[in-house]
Amino acid sequence: MITYSDYLNKIFPGVKVQKISVNAGFSCPNRDGSIGTGGCIYCRNDSFSPSYCMTGDPVGMQISRGKEFFARKYPAMKYLAYFQSYTNTYGRHLNALRALYEEALNSPDVVGLIIGTRPDTLPQNVIEMLGQLNQTAPVFVEIGAETSCDETLRLINRHHTWQDVCDGVRRASEAGLHCGLHLIAGLPGENRGQILRNVDEACRLPIETLKMHHLQILRDTPLSRLWHEGKVEVTPFGLDDYLDLCVEIVRRVPEHIVIERFLAQSPPSLVEAPKWGLKNYQFTNLLQNRLLQDTTS
Ligand code: SF4
Repeated sequence: MITYSDYLNKIFPGVKVQKISVNAGFSCPNRDGSIGTGGCIYCRNDSFSPSYCMTGDPVGMQISRGKEFFARKYPAMKYLAYFQSYTNTYGRHLNALRALYEEALNSPDVVGLIIGTRPDTLPQNVIEMLGQLNQTAPVFVEIGAETSCDETLRLINRHHTWQDVCDGVRRASEAGLHCGLHLIAGLPGENRGQILRNVDEACRLPIETLKMHHLQILRDTPLSRLWHEGKVEVTPFGLDDYLDLCVEIVRRVPEHIVIERFLAQSPPSLVEAPKWGLKNYQFTNLLQNRLLQDTTS
């Protein structure tokens, strides 16, 4: 199985690279009313924004601050500017978007971009502009799909369809961008069979990476309220069941697609369920042991 760091090593040979999250003040069309309101029912954006980028500071300044976290340990480290919060291709004029991305790419030691976005917020002119930037430094587009099931997409208030995902991925890939897909395991109404179908559907697309995590119920989200009121069918994963599922997913994902991760990293104080109390590396160790058992049994 090719790991995500092997994948990055292939793209950046001989260089250690680290993501730095950037909050460029984007909003989300599923919150501001242009596509929907209220957002996806599980979403709490502060759950995935590190503290060093929770400001309206210029992108270059956020990157310098982010680098302080890593540069002391690895002075030769290079960086990928990760436009992570909200929808990072939305609500700006094309030239303004390009200027932001170029500001990141012009920051010392930044060797590439990761752009997190929705599948329906990738107009062709933005894809073409990203394709041009990709000629000088690798550009990775991380598309939030979450599931391949349109009924679930409606239930979680995503306001896009699976067809939108297929279309966005195809166009991004045709433009030569490194394309990754994000899925959530255990969305309301989805059993193990549906989760595996989501993975299979994702793997039929021209993606390079798959990023998954189990559904977390975060405080003060619509999902939390609906769950407490018994209005959604959600059973938070137990650790054992989730590890079993991950083993099955590793088995069926083709070699050419790299699984970037299986675990969400929300601050524990925001998580209502499930509460496993594990760090990413601890989960990875457990999964590796399971995979080892799986191959020797
Ligand atoms: S998950 Fe993404 S698309 Fe959904 S509300 Fe949050 S920022 Fe918007």
